[in-house]
Amino acid sequence: MVRRPTVGVLAVQGDVPEHLAALESVGARAVRVRRPTELDTVDALVLPGGESTTIDRLVRTFGLYDPIRARLRAGMPAYGSCAGMILLADRIVDGRPDQQTLGGLDVTVRRNAFGRQVDSYEEDLTIAGTEGRIRAVFIRAPWVEDVGPGVEVLARTGHGPGAGRIVAVREGPVLATSFHPELTGDHRVHRLFIEIVREGS
Ligand code: GLN
Repeated sequence: MVRRPTVGVLAVQGDVPEHLAALESVGARAVRVRRPTELDTVDALVLPGGESTTIDRLVRTFGLYDPIRARLRAGMPAYGSCAGMILLADRIVDGRPDQQTLGGLDVTVRRNAFGRQVDSYEEDLTIAGTEGRIRAVFIRAPWVEDVGPGVEVLARTGHGPGAGRIVAVREGPVLATSFHPELTGDHRVHRLFIEIVREGS
Protein backbone atom coordinates (compact mmCIF):
# COMPACT_ATOMS: atom_id res chain seq x y z
CA MET A 1 0.00 0.00 0.00
CA VAL A 2 1.29 3.48 -0.88
CA ARG A 3 0.92 5.41 2.39
CA ARG A 4 1.29 8.84 0.80
CA PRO A 5 0.31 8.47 -2.84
CA THR A 6 1.39 11.07 -5.38
CA VAL A 7 -1.72 12.48 -6.98
CA GLY A 8 -1.55 14.76 -10.01
CA VAL A 9 -4.01 17.51 -10.78
CA LEU A 10 -4.42 18.18 -14.49
CA ALA A 11 -3.29 21.81 -14.56
CA VAL A 12 -4.12 23.20 -17.99
CA GLN A 13 -7.22 25.17 -16.90
CA GLY A 14 -9.77 25.20 -14.07
CA ASP A 15 -9.79 25.12 -10.27
CA VAL A 16 -6.39 23.47 -9.77
CA PRO A 17 -5.17 25.07 -6.47
CA GLU A 18 -8.31 24.03 -4.61
CA HIS A 19 -7.81 20.36 -5.57
CA LEU A 20 -4.10 20.49 -4.66
CA ALA A 21 -5.00 21.83 -1.19
CA ALA A 22 -7.80 19.28 -0.66
CA LEU A 23 -5.54 16.38 -1.67
CA GLU A 24 -2.70 17.49 0.62
CA SER A 25 -5.14 17.79 3.51
CA VAL A 26 -6.18 14.12 3.15
CA GLY A 27 -2.62 12.79 3.08
CA ALA A 28 -1.61 12.77 -0.59
CA ARG A 29 1.38 14.42 -2.19
CA ALA A 30 -0.32 16.66 -4.76
CA VAL A 31 1.46 17.84 -7.90
CA ARG A 32 0.45 19.75 -11.01
CA VAL A 33 0.40 17.83 -14.29
CA ARG A 34 0.99 19.80 -17.47
CA ARG A 35 3.44 17.55 -19.29
CA PRO A 36 3.63 13.84 -20.09
CA THR A 37 6.80 13.55 -17.95
CA GLU A 38 4.83 14.89 -14.95
CA LEU A 39 2.05 12.39 -15.62
CA ASP A 40 4.65 9.60 -15.42
CA THR A 41 5.39 10.49 -11.77
CA VAL A 42 1.82 10.21 -10.42
CA ASP A 43 -0.13 7.29 -8.93
CA ALA A 44 -3.48 8.89 -9.75
CA LEU A 45 -4.95 11.95 -11.49
CA VAL A 46 -7.63 14.54 -10.65
CA LEU A 47 -9.39 16.29 -13.53
CA PRO A 48 -10.70 19.58 -12.16
CA GLY A 49 -13.76 21.66 -12.89
CA GLY A 50 -13.41 24.44 -15.42
CA GLU A 51 -14.53 24.42 -19.05
CA SER A 52 -14.45 20.96 -20.59
CA THR A 53 -14.15 22.20 -24.19
CA THR A 54 -11.10 24.32 -23.25
CA ILE A 55 -9.51 21.54 -21.18
CA ASP A 56 -10.14 19.06 -24.04
CA ARG A 57 -8.35 21.39 -26.48
CA LEU A 58 -5.43 22.17 -24.14
CA VAL A 59 -4.89 18.50 -23.25
CA ARG A 60 -4.19 17.89 -26.96
CA THR A 61 -2.00 21.02 -27.28
CA PHE A 62 0.12 19.89 -24.32
CA GLY A 63 0.53 16.38 -25.76
CA LEU A 64 -1.33 14.83 -22.85
CA TYR A 65 -4.29 13.25 -24.64
CA ASP A 66 -2.72 9.90 -25.62
CA PRO A 67 -0.63 9.54 -22.42
CA ILE A 68 -3.64 10.16 -20.13
CA ARG A 69 -5.80 7.77 -22.14
CA ALA A 70 -3.11 5.11 -21.94
CA ARG A 71 -2.81 5.50 -18.15
CA LEU A 72 -6.60 5.34 -17.76
CA ARG A 73 -6.74 2.16 -19.88
CA ALA A 74 -3.99 0.72 -17.67
CA GLY A 75 -6.10 1.27 -14.54
CA MET A 76 -4.79 4.54 -13.12
CA PRO A 77 -7.24 5.85 -10.49
CA ALA A 78 -8.85 9.12 -11.58
CA TYR A 79 -11.31 11.58 -10.12
CA GLY A 80 -13.18 14.14 -12.22
CA SER A 81 -15.28 16.96 -10.79
CA CYS A 82 -17.76 18.78 -13.03
CA ALA A 83 -15.83 19.49 -16.29
CA GLY A 84 -13.55 16.63 -15.16
CA MET A 85 -16.57 14.30 -15.08
CA ILE A 86 -17.35 15.31 -18.67
CA LEU A 87 -13.75 14.57 -19.72
CA LEU A 88 -13.89 11.09 -18.19
CA ALA A 89 -17.29 10.18 -19.69
CA ASP A 90 -17.39 7.81 -22.65
CA ARG A 91 -20.39 9.73 -24.11
CA ILE A 92 -21.61 13.36 -23.97
CA VAL A 93 -25.01 14.87 -24.77
CA ASP A 94 -25.07 18.61 -25.60
CA GLY A 95 -21.31 18.84 -26.02
CA ARG A 96 -19.83 21.08 -28.67
CA PRO A 97 -19.89 19.32 -32.07
CA ASP A 98 -16.11 18.84 -32.14
CA GLN A 99 -15.81 18.08 -28.43
CA GLN A 100 -14.15 14.80 -27.53
CA THR A 101 -13.48 13.17 -24.19
CA LEU A 102 -10.68 11.12 -22.72
CA GLY A 103 -13.23 8.50 -21.72
CA GLY A 104 -12.76 5.63 -19.29
CA LEU A 105 -16.06 5.93 -17.48
CA ASP A 106 -18.98 4.02 -19.02
CA VAL A 107 -21.57 6.79 -18.63
CA THR A 108 -23.42 9.35 -20.74
CA VAL A 109 -23.26 12.86 -19.28
CA ARG A 110 -25.42 15.80 -20.26
CA ARG A 111 -23.35 18.97 -20.33
CA ASN A 112 -24.84 22.11 -18.67
CA ALA A 113 -27.71 19.81 -17.72
CA PHE A 114 -29.25 21.88 -14.96
CA GLY A 115 -30.14 24.54 -17.52
CA ARG A 116 -27.97 27.35 -18.81
CA GLN A 117 -30.04 29.90 -16.91
CA VAL A 118 -29.44 28.09 -13.59
CA ASP A 119 -25.78 28.97 -13.06
CA SER A 120 -25.40 27.28 -9.72
CA TYR A 121 -27.18 25.79 -6.76
CA GLU A 122 -26.27 23.88 -3.62
CA GLU A 123 -27.69 20.88 -1.86
CA ASP A 124 -26.65 18.53 0.98
CA LEU A 125 -26.25 15.03 -0.45
CA THR A 126 -25.74 11.53 0.89
CA ILE A 127 -22.82 9.99 -1.01
CA ALA A 128 -22.21 6.24 -0.78
CA GLY A 129 -18.80 5.54 0.75
CA THR A 130 -18.82 8.67 2.92
CA GLU A 131 -20.41 9.43 6.30
CA GLY A 132 -23.18 11.98 6.83
CA ARG A 133 -24.39 14.56 4.37
CA ILE A 134 -22.08 16.59 2.18
CA ARG A 135 -22.70 20.04 0.75
CA ALA A 136 -22.63 19.78 -3.04
CA VAL A 137 -21.97 22.94 -5.07
CA PHE A 138 -23.16 22.72 -8.67
CA ILE A 139 -21.83 25.31 -11.16
CA ARG A 140 -23.14 24.93 -14.75
CA ALA A 141 -22.89 21.28 -13.95
CA PRO A 142 -23.44 18.13 -15.98
CA TRP A 143 -25.52 15.19 -14.73
CA VAL A 144 -25.27 11.54 -15.64
CA GLU A 145 -28.02 10.43 -18.03
CA ASP A 146 -27.23 6.72 -17.98
CA VAL A 147 -24.65 4.33 -16.65
CA GLY A 148 -23.17 1.09 -17.92
CA PRO A 149 -23.43 -2.17 -15.96
CA GLY A 150 -20.09 -1.76 -14.16
CA VAL A 151 -20.88 1.71 -12.83
CA GLU A 152 -21.97 2.29 -9.24
CA VAL A 153 -24.28 5.26 -8.58
CA LEU A 154 -23.00 7.03 -5.43
CA ALA A 155 -25.40 10.00 -5.23
CA ARG A 156 -28.51 11.55 -6.73
CA THR A 157 -29.93 15.02 -6.23
CA GLY A 158 -32.91 15.24 -3.88
CA HIS A 159 -34.44 18.49 -5.08
CA GLY A 160 -33.63 21.45 -7.32
CA PRO A 161 -33.82 21.57 -11.10
CA GLY A 162 -32.57 18.02 -11.56
CA ALA A 163 -34.34 16.13 -8.74
CA GLY A 164 -33.35 12.46 -8.68
CA ARG A 165 -30.51 12.91 -11.18
CA ILE A 166 -27.29 10.93 -10.85
CA VAL A 167 -24.47 13.27 -9.75
CA ALA A 168 -21.75 10.95 -8.37
CA VAL A 169 -20.51 7.66 -9.84
CA ARG A 170 -17.68 5.19 -9.53
CA GLU A 171 -16.44 2.55 -11.96
CA GLY A 172 -13.56 0.61 -10.41
CA PRO A 173 -10.78 3.15 -9.71
CA VAL A 174 -12.55 6.01 -11.53
CA LEU A 175 -14.68 8.44 -9.50
CA ALA A 176 -16.67 11.40 -10.82
CA THR A 177 -18.95 14.05 -9.33
CA SER A 178 -21.07 16.72 -11.05
CA PHE A 179 -20.32 19.04 -8.15
CA HIS A 180 -17.21 20.68 -6.66
CA PRO A 181 -16.18 19.29 -3.24
CA GLU A 182 -12.88 21.18 -3.58
CA LEU A 183 -14.74 24.47 -3.02
CA THR A 184 -16.33 23.80 0.37
CA GLY A 185 -13.41 22.99 2.68
CA ASP A 186 -15.01 19.58 3.39
CA HIS A 187 -12.62 16.98 2.03
CA ARG A 188 -14.58 13.76 2.51
CA VAL A 189 -14.90 13.13 -1.25
CA HIS A 190 -11.13 13.59 -1.69
CA ARG A 191 -10.60 11.22 1.25
CA LEU A 192 -12.82 8.65 -0.52
CA PHE A 193 -10.69 9.08 -3.64
CA ILE A 194 -7.45 8.55 -1.70
CA GLU A 195 -8.94 5.36 -0.20
CA ILE A 196 -9.65 4.18 -3.76
CA VAL A 197 -6.05 5.02 -4.75
CA ARG A 198 -4.67 3.10 -1.75
CA GLU A 199 -6.99 0.10 -2.41
CA GLY A 200 -5.49 -0.34 -5.85
CA SER A 201 -1.84 -0.03 -4.85
N1 GLN B 1 -20.17 23.71 -17.95
C1 GLN B 1 -18.78 23.37 -17.87
C2 GLN B 1 -18.36 22.49 -19.02
O1 GLN B 1 -19.10 22.12 -19.84
C3 GLN B 1 -18.44 22.68 -16.56
C4 GLN B 1 -18.59 23.65 -15.42
C5 GLN B 1 -17.70 23.39 -14.26
O2 GLN B 1 -16.74 22.60 -14.30
N2 GLN B 1 -17.98 24.09 -13.21
O3 GLN B 1 -17.22 22.14 -19.11
